[in-house]
Amino acid sequence: MTRSAPDSCPGVLRLHQAADGPLARIRVPGGRVEPAQLQTLADAARDLGNGNLELTSRGNIQLRQVRDASELAQRLGAAGLLPSETHERVRNIVASPLSGRVGGFADVHGLATDLDAGLRGDAQLSELPGRVLFTLDDGRGDVSTLHGDIGVQAVGTDEFALLLAGADTGLRVSASEAVDVMLDAARGFLDLRGTSASGQWRLHEIAGGVESVLETLDRSPAGEPLELGATHAVPIGWLDQEDGLVTLGAGVPLGTLSARTTEFLAAVERPVFITPWRSLVITDLDEGPAETVVRVLAPMGLIFDANSPWLQVSACAGRPGCAKSHTDVRADLATAVESDRVLPASAEPEQPTEHTATSAEPEISTATGTSEQRTPAKELLPAESVTVAGRQHWSGCDRRCGRPRGSVTDVVATERGYRVDTDDAATTP
Ligand code: SF4
Repeated sequence: MTRSAPDSCPGVLRLHQAADGPLARIRVPGGRVEPAQLQTLADAARDLGNGNLELTSRGNIQLRQVRDASELAQRLGAAGLLPSETHERVRNIVASPLSGRVGGFADVHGLATDLDAGLRGDAQLSELPGRVLFTLDDGRGDVSTLHGDIGVQAVGTDEFALLLAGADTGLRVSASEAVDVMLDAARGFLDLRGTSASGQWRLHEIAGGVESVLETLDRSPAGEPLELGATHAVPIGWLDQEDGLVTLGAGVPLGTLSARTTEFLAAVERPVFITPWRSLVITDLDEGPAETVVRVLAPMGLIFDANSPWLQVSACAGRPGCAKSHTDVRADLATAVESDRVLPASAEPEQPTEHTATSAEPEISTATGTSEQRTPAKELLPAESVTVAGRQHWSGCDRRCGRPRGSVTDVVATERGYRVDTDDAATTP
């Protein structure tokens, strides 16, 4: 794949000019946020943004409609959420959220801290593209499914498989070696990228890239490559920790947390992890406080019921945040959930026989705005007629940003209504 544009991932010091105003992305290595940091984020969202925090598919946080970027950077820096000005956009580290508390072979949260420090300690690594993703999987196979660029997955209490471009290399390292090997792999990717004319953003985009990086590591594969799964269940509800305490997995509708809910989370005074599934893991609770958290935060919108339809849905930003969007997909999707038109996976929805939109849509506009291919006409539906069962992703245009991996029904807005596309193989971007 050839890239003609430079990587433009936003950060706190380089905002993205979204259609609804400047957008800041705050990196949260390993997803861990301390209570005082949650309070800082709640205050910043209310004072300097649109009043909400957006959770991203890499366990990071976004603020929209940022009014004072320098005040935001100052506040985040004081809270330890912006420890490096040079490396802020390369700190994309996802770790198994339940690690060390519930299941898994090893606790990888310490590796996340060490990897972050290692990245920040190497000036050259500030040149990594902001799209590079590091994954630290404790053996349950959850974050390895994200197909990161460089990662490890525990195969025992002190043995990790090295993953490159989302696949096991067969190379095995100990816990004490894991961070150094990942940093070496990152340097290898950077060198390789430097010799490439087209400046790829991700390791899998370079033909022979994995083999070239492996050569730089000068280690021999020692294990049968692991078969990595495609998806993993999101932790939701009451989970007993191995030390007798309780973890709560909480879904967040469309990954949007209000400043007020964030303040309540801060008041729980326990570490909270942001998951790459745009949900939360609230840890180290005694049973009584855990019951109180559910009683208080469920009415505020957090989801502790694994059967909630909110857990089956996701959406891109849509309007007003994205100028390419044909409509406010999030509002339409929220109405669909509240109107019981998001059905369990086992249900077969009845397709409406009447609708107001035309079924003729001869062309699809691509992400670049060019019309380039004719597709078979599909039925187009008004928002209030869309009824879909199972996992579904709603998008404001054909680009389908934020679409989860795996089997997902696409609900795509067009100029004249929504197109529902259940052909996964044909529609996966
Ligand atoms: S899918 Fe389209 S409308 Fe949605 S955020 Fe991406 S570019 Fe914008």
